Amino acid sequence: MLENVNKHFGELHVLKDINLTIDQGEVVVIIGPSGGGKSTLCRSINRLEPIDGGTILIDGKKLPQEGRDLARLRADVGMVFQSFNLFAHKTILENVTLGPMKVRKVGKAEAEQTAMQLLERVGIGTQAGKYPAQLSGGQQQRAAIARALAMKPKVMLFDEPTSALDPEMVKEVLDVMTDLAHEGMTMIVVTHEMGFARRAAQKVVFMAEGQIVEESTPEEFFTNARTDRAKDFLSKIL
Ligand code: ATP
Ligand code: MG
Repeated sequence: MLENVNKHFGELHVLKDINLTIDQGEVVVIIGPSGGGKSTLCRSINRLEPIDGGTILIDGKKLPQEGRDLARLRADVGMVFQSFNLFAHKTILENVTLGPMKVRKVGKAEAEQTAMQLLERVGIGTQAGKYPAQLSGGQQQRAAIARALAMKPKVMLFDEPTSALDPEMVKEVLDVMTDLAHEGMTMIVVTHEMGFARRAAQKVVFMAEGQIVEESTPEEFFTNARTDRAKDFLSKIL
């Protein structure tokens, strides 16, 4: 939940009084023009970016500015980026077990067992011993999702997870995300994949120039956007 969140980069007011409630199990798609503040919003939710005003609550708990509490709360927020951000010198299995062992203090055997289950679930169990560079983009992105899930997050953030992928790999990643959504994961997803929004999201948030311009159901948004700003944007991407 975000209350009156504000953020500046110097003179630039990137997040202007953002208010957004995300219920448990809800999937929210954030859509909008480049530079509108979507990534900054995602990054501020787990404090990769500090905010200058307002409050962010995860599971009812206020996100602290720093310290041990921050590390713990941050571990509750899984993040998947456009570029896969896997550790290049670690195997896929090691990528997935690292966080649980270090942050959650899970033993190696248990971490590996969970990791293998997750890798199977995203369809890349056979790739566990390989290094990221030996996998396709779609496989790497599914590994990144497995790695985030291994921390048992309360919320998953996805920032344009498919936009760096070749078209034929987009579906395999969206399918994994759709399954997650249907299993009840709370998700915030920045994407322009309207098929995903329609299938999986309860809410679409249209963001432009640092503000939430519209918040509605996917159906409403795609068939009957209220503002000219959103209509103009949709006419360019549809
Ligand atoms: P895109 O669709 O292109 O990914 P976005 O909606 O994710 O765009 P942001 O990346 O959040 O937009 O950027 C919002 C604004 O903040 C942009 O004008 C950008 O140039 C600026 N910005 C982002 N990060 C920084 C930074 N670290 N320092 C200064 N300005 C920044
Ligand atoms: Mg972005």
